[in-house]
Amino acid sequence: MTQHMRDGLARNYLAGDWVEGDGGAAIAVEDPGLAEPVGDCAQAGEATLARALETARASVERGDLADMQPSARGRLMLRVAQEIRAIADEGAVMLCRESGKTLEAAQDEFEEAAQYFEYYGGVADKIEGKSIPLGPDYADYTVYEPFGVSAQIVPWNFPVSIAARSLAPSMAAGNATIIKSPELDPIGLAMLGTALERAEVPGGAVSILNGIGPDLGARLVASSEIDQIVFTGSVTTGQAILRAAADPVTPSLMELGGKSAAVVFEDANLDTLMGSLKTGIFYNAGQVCSAMARVLVHRSLYDAAVERAAALANGLSVGHGLENPDHTPVASAQQLTRVEELTSTARQSGARIAAGGARLDRPGYFMAPTILADVDPASRVAQEEIFGPVTCMTPFDTEAEAIAMANGTEFGLVAGVFTRDLARAHRVAAKLRAGQVFVNEWFAGGIATPFGGVGKSGFGREKGLEALYNYVRTKNIAISLKG
Ligand code: NAD
Repeated sequence: MTQHMRDGLARNYLAGDWVEGDGGAAIAVEDPGLAEPVGDCAQAGEATLARALETARASVERGDLADMQPSARGRLMLRVAQEIRAIADEGAVMLCRESGKTLEAAQDEFEEAAQYFEYYGGVADKIEGKSIPLGPDYADYTVYEPFGVSAQIVPWNFPVSIAARSLAPSMAAGNATIIKSPELDPIGLAMLGTALERAEVPGGAVSILNGIGPDLGARLVASSEIDQIVFTGSVTTGQAILRAAADPVTPSLMELGGKSAAVVFEDANLDTLMGSLKTGIFYNAGQVCSAMARVLVHRSLYDAAVERAAALANGLSVGHGLENPDHTPVASAQQLTRVEELTSTARQSGARIAAGGARLDRPGYFMAPTILADVDPASRVAQEEIFGPVTCMTPFDTEAEAIAMANGTEFGLVAGVFTRDLARAHRVAAKLRAGQVFVNEWFAGGIATPFGGVGKSGFGREKGLEALYNYVRTKNIAISLKG
């Protein structure tokens, strides 16, 4: 048993220490696959937050990470990766139960978290500035400095891997970090504190606090003691955070929602498309910001594609995450109601339910894998993020029409092109309004490829070398040599 639990209560990791917190009643955490309690999580209140802020500031002032030899900081991060792997088995079972995802997906989260620490650990000593030629009378160079205290707010759909996605580059750059865990599944993430502790990350350099978003989260992001906000979550919360950041002018990174479209041309391989659709919209019960939420298909392939998509959806095995089925519950009763309600608007706007369409009659919060066909691109169901196992299919006739439709929402996170014509793939990819475009494989790419949004999907980039530059600011040193 790791340190994060005591008497069935998951605790806050406060600057290298474990505390129960002063935030009132513990958060009851539920298993969405059974609709039964799975554990409790101590909330951090005002005093705990104040201590986290103080200790983070002290860590920045001491230069715990920033003044460490960069290569030593990199090695420290590699130790964190090792310790994450050491807790992964225990952590994955907990994460599976509290989030509803499959055990395999939970194991993948811990593995991905370890890989983020390896990737950014490897670049900790390569954050190099530039020398700028100004002629013989000047020497001029830039350095990348850490911001100081980075406040990071994490969503519930991938709590462990998303936390690591932001924490690893933040640490590599030398920041102290305070993470606010998501209410629905905070326990697996609390365990990350154990890995940090065992790897001997300096106390104060990282805290992981549990609490309610509009309470603890709102107080953290509004604090004048932080130097940066990294937010991953919904558009509405992102907007509230940006408003809070406006007064102190806190630099912010926003990774928000999506309504991403796959554009399937007449020469696409339908087997390839079905493979991508299976993970694209049914992985993690569709609760993926970059899910394949819309499938736009050339009319010549459309009927066949809808028929195969419906057969795929109807053929998925359903079960508790621990059984590793194809299809798992959504994260909460509230999420199920939202997904079902939004899906039910499809019929009124003229769409056809090709598969699913309603919750499944079994314990837990299961939405049937759902394929909506003939969806009007202007309808609510095609415009709003559902965040569940529901995709919207619509036919198109021309390339220009497909591009306009794909770009026709307020979002722009990812997009996809399915075609065997390379020239068309490049041409269409260039026109799609998205931070990342997949060709012939949804979710292609990985931790090394930059990821982030356009429009209401947010700004800034996570993953890859690109992400490092969200965690530093540039300073220019201009020196006159004229004496
Ligand atoms: P959410 O916005 O409800 O909550 C996200 C986090 O913000 C939680 O930790 C929550 O406690 C906290 N929060 C809520 N109100 C707050 C406030 N006023 N101030 C500070 N923090 C607050 O989102 P969610 O339901 O947890 O996650 C789902 C959303 O996240 C979806 O829209 C999804 O697309 C998006 N998402 C985006 C990415 C990405 O990388 N672009 C990745 C995963 C999820």
